[in-house]
Amino acid sequence: MVTDGLDALREEIAGCRICRDTPLRGDAYRLPHEPRPVAVISTTARVLIAGQAPGLRVHESGVPFNDPSGDRLRDWLDVDRETFYDRDRFAIVPMGFCFPGYDAKGSDLPPRRECAPQWRERVLAAMPQIELVLAIGQYAQAWHLGGQRRENTTETVRAWQSILFANRPPAVLPLPHPSWRNSGWIKRNPWFERELLPTLRQRINMLVN
Ligand code: SF4
Repeated sequence: MVTDGLDALREEIAGCRICRDTPLRGDAYRLPHEPRPVAVISTTARVLIAGQAPGLRVHESGVPFNDPSGDRLRDWLDVDRETFYDRDRFAIVPMGFCFPGYDAKGSDLPPRRECAPQWRERVLAAMPQIELVLAIGQYAQAWHLGGQRRENTTETVRAWQSILFANRPPAVLPLPHPSWRNSGWIKRNPWFERELLPTLRQRINMLVN
């Protein structure tokens, strides 16, 4: 098997049990199932997909974005599954690596608070070749944009041009979550498909082909 020097880090993450064994906020917040971290770390990909956290379907399959959200994201990027899952082209590192479970209303909980402080700096440091970060949703935007983040996700995504063209490597492009729950948001914000998506597709085409 080909190794790239990151296998030790991948193994360390694969064995992580922090949210199950020593949850940050005590027993009441223990991860309700066995951890299954899902992330694609790459020393060659030039694009990093910084998502939120795996859903149940991804937790069960161990394959990131293996769900309708992934289908929509691939459509936004204009890439097929084979390209999307090519580790030489895309790194996929969510803000929480494990499925966090559901809240009382049956919605996915936010990414686990333990995860980014524990792993993110190390993972990003191991991928200095990344040229474009797709910051999907509020949690990834909070981490990757810091003070450039606007008052909410809509306004942050609306400011995509000034954020994308800010002079710093890697470039960051904020995106809404591709969940079908955001279909109404996409309809209400037609500039997203009309103006942002063509630029996104052009960048992706440049960086993965
Ligand atoms: S979510 Fe992150 S910190 Fe928590 S158990 Fe999974 S890998 Fe570890």
